[in-house]
Amino acid sequence: MTADLEIGLYIFLLAGFLGYHIITRVPPLLHTPLMSATNAISGISLIGSLVVTGAGYSPLSTVLGTIAVACSSTNVVGGFLITDRMLRMFKRQEDMAGPSRRRPVSARTLWIAATVAVGVLLVVAASGRLDPGPGGAARLGVSHQALSFFYILSAVLFILGLKGLSSPRWARRGMFAAEIGMLMAIVGTLFHHEIVSYQWIAVGLAVGSTVGATMGLRIPMTAVPQRTALSHSLGALAATLVGISEYVRHGAGIGAILMTAVGFEVVIGALTFTGSLMAAAKLQELLRGAPITYRGQNRSNMAILVAMAALLVTLVAVPGASALFFIMVALALAFGFLLVLPIGAADMPVVIALLNSYAGLADAAMGFVLTNRIQIITGSLDGTSGFLLSLLMCRAMNRSARNVLFGAFGQIEADAGRAEGTAKGTVRTIVPDEVPGLLDGARSVIIVPGYGMAVAQAQHGVAELAKVLAKRGIDVKYAIHPVAGRMPGHMNVLLAEANVPYDQLYEMEQINAYFGEADLALVVGANDVTNPAARSDRSSPLYGMPILEVDRAKSIIVLKRSMRPGFAGVDNDLYYNDKCMMLFGDARDSLTKLFTAMK
Ligand code: NAP
Repeated sequence: MTADLEIGLYIFLLAGFLGYHIITRVPPLLHTPLMSATNAISGISLIGSLVVTGAGYSPLSTVLGTIAVACSSTNVVGGFLITDRMLRMFKRQEDMAGPSRRRPVSARTLWIAATVAVGVLLVVAASGRLDPGPGGAARLGVSHQALSFFYILSAVLFILGLKGLSSPRWARRGMFAAEIGMLMAIVGTLFHHEIVSYQWIAVGLAVGSTVGATMGLRIPMTAVPQRTALSHSLGALAATLVGISEYVRHGAGIGAILMTAVGFEVVIGALTFTGSLMAAAKLQELLRGAPITYRGQNRSNMAILVAMAALLVTLVAVPGASALFFIMVALALAFGFLLVLPIGAADMPVVIALLNSYAGLADAAMGFVLTNRIQIITGSLDGTSGFLLSLLMCRAMNRSARNVLFGAFGQIEADAGRAEGTAKGTVRTIVPDEVPGLLDGARSVIIVPGYGMAVAQAQHGVAELAKVLAKRGIDVKYAIHPVAGRMPGHMNVLLAEANVPYDQLYEMEQINAYFGEADLALVVGANDVTNPAARSDRSSPLYGMPILEVDRAKSIIVLKRSMRPGFAGVDNDLYYNDKCMMLFGDARDSLTKLFTAMK
């Protein structure tokens, strides 16, 4: 084992432990921003891509590097912009009452630019080296030590950035630190002694920044899951292309250790690339969301996995067998596609979180290939974050990690379909005009949002209704289940977008204590997360899943379009409860009618 590999492995493990401790402290409220923040930080693969593009190893390296620069910079710009957009939405009641005390973005941008400029000047001055460039012209280069110093500082700022996500109060400041860290690493790398040309770097950066800025500023909050999947695919593509470029550059002379790292980089990168593209297409409904299965699926997937492992082992022994290398890449591309094919769209969030961790691993492998320790750190942080989020989702859905890891996704839907119950009693309905009467003398209402609120884009209607209730002197709280919606923290982001103060949002463990005293629980497009069968019916696929105890409220109104089941495909016992009234219709329309009736 070489010293570089040994140090790299230590760094990888330590960053993973550190990531675990920091990320477990991020509250569910900020799980969606956490995903986009780690995504932006993992765009640090940009620095490796910059060197490959600018070093002029070969025309192929320059082409692959330019595409990698475009992909990585899309993630950096888009990831930070959308994270900031989300974090700006999280406000407390007191923030909303007074004038905004937040600094304007323009001042902030100036501060970043000034800090980076001063930093670069200081480091260049300290390392002060003039390299003879092509044609004898002198060019300024940063010494290896100075660049390492830059990277260490950037890594510290990234860690502080993630630490900031432990509270919405510090989150923006934390992300600001991470943004400075990213800028420092990029600007420092532009002075890397191996970079001899900037032409293609400029092209890649221009394309990536434009695409990233457009995505970051324009994408609606309801499309965040598919954007996240898409950016994982871009990060993974960058890692794959840099891996291919490095393999071609070193040729048969590539050592066993480097070959192993390149092999991992391209295999994980390629499968994450196609897997994430599939996930994004299913979420965007470009592909059929239902699981696509066929006979012998698991066996054929396993055969591809074994073939890839065999090819990697062969390549480590005979690195010059380039045909095998490209077959391995092709198999990995096919594997990612086939892995996600049998998974239903509703299970995509777990897949996205897992692919997030794979993208982190590909990034870390790239760090090993380029002996770039900051990439090892960020890859490890990203990998840990994705893995932890997928485990948290599994726990909240009462699914085992094994079930997730070994790809039995969609199975629960099939089982649940069989378990779909027959009608268990009478269902009472209510019309909007009857609701004001029901609320006479009411003092407390708990709003329970779910996936249907996201589908109907009814978050603004919910917020408006809450204001009317508050004007009547009614205390309004929101009950947030950790897996309500289709990705971790989904409901928090949507409600924040509608200017609901985050101190009115209560996590499941807190709010369950309040349901007994609530005069009304208003369920807006939530279903599975309110099903009492999860507590009492051992035969239910939901049995054991912690739920919001809506059935303990004095009265319940459910806004949904029909009696159709939710994601788990099971009938909801709540709807047959004597206290429960169904207000059928699209949630947004129903809320508009309720709002008019209440006024
Ligand atoms: P849900 O159980 O999927 O139910 C959503 C309900 O919304 C449906 O019953 C549907 O009923 C209603 N709906 C859909 N469109 C509507 C519209 N336009 N207006 C009004 N209602 C509408 O949702 P949930 O209670 O939020 O539970 C989330 C589920 O997703 C859980 O089973 C969870 O395990 C799973 N999941 C979550 C995550 C995550 O990270 N959040 C990840 C993976 C899986 P109608 O069709 O009758 O309107």
